[in-house]
Amino acid sequence: RAKAAGGNRYEVADPEADARAITRHGLTTALPAALERGEFFIEYQPLVDLGDGTVHGAEALVRWSHPQHGTISPDRFIPLAEHTGLIVPLGRWVLDESARQARLWQEERGGPAPLRVNVNLSPCQLQHPRLVADTVEILERTGLPPGALCLEVTESALIGADEDLLKPLRRLAEMGVDIALDDFGTGYSNLANLRRLPVSVLKLDRAFTRGMQQFPADPVDLKIVEGIVALAHSLDLAVTVEGVETSAQADQLRELGCDTAQGWYYARPGPAARVRELALVDAVTG
Ligand code: C2E
Ligand code: MG
Ligand code: MG
Ligand code: MG
Repeated sequence: RAKAAGGNRYEVADPEADARAITRHGLTTALPAALERGEFFIEYQPLVDLGDGTVHGAEALVRWSHPQHGTISPDRFIPLAEHTGLIVPLGRWVLDESARQARLWQEERGGPAPLRVNVNLSPCQLQHPRLVADTVEILERTGLPPGALCLEVTESALIGADEDLLKPLRRLAEMGVDIALDDFGTGYSNLANLRRLPVSVLKLDRAFTRGMQQFPADPVDLKIVEGIVALAHSLDLAVTVEGVETSAQADQLRELGCDTAQGWYYARPGPAARVRELALVDAVTG
């Protein structure tokens, strides 16, 4: 809190908060040039089939390689980019880059089912009139089949969504693009509401897997996950779990019927080549 100290001088009560504020402001104003200079890069985290342990795709997670501050996590700059609207061109770049990468995986790997890529969409992108046109253009230009793309939208972005907001997602789903409901379980969506949404995947938030880290796992958490999985499957939705860090969690989640897992137990987010290597190992030994 700043207090007037006469004239136009201000006494800063909390210098650290002030530094954070300056950094926030500094980061915000640096975003457009950073995009132009190519300071963003993408790490990919494998998505693993819980049934047979094979890697069948990866989630694209953007990072900022800042010339002074080093690598900055998306939790810090995505909200700023959303606030200024820069998330639209940034998100388009992420989609473009990820589609190109997934297409490369397909060319390099050949053989079995193609690797898929998951890309996060922010609510601003969802409301942008060019979402469908841009996505179609990117898929056509990169040659990635729509079925190899999954767009992740958070549950909170779709709470109370009206038909206008859902229409672009519906169009994409009709083209064969998968839509995942990200961070599921952290919002307040009405479960019955799920039927209305054009989603084919539920991504259970890490909050649930965290409850399974202790041994024995919290029985209430287990019951909740079991219930969500049953509901999801009855609606023809696949269930992906985030934040799997131990083999015990993986076993438990497999037993509960989850389809796909993602987490440090399998692999941290990393370079695209790592995903290809892990998928190749599976293709040979799996
Ligand atoms: P998210 O989409 O829920 O992504 C999962 C986050 O969990 C990632 O954090 C990932 O690194 C982290 N994670 C994965 N496995 C584990 C694990 O086993 N343990 C723990 N503790 N964490 C794990 P990250 O990369 O920092 O991304 C944070 C959030 O930033 C993402 O959450 C997503 O909401 C957002 N984000 C990332 N990239 C993009 C993007 O290109 N566009 C938009 N709009 N948002 C993005
Ligand atoms: Mg996500
Ligand atoms: Mg998530
Ligand atoms: Mg999450």
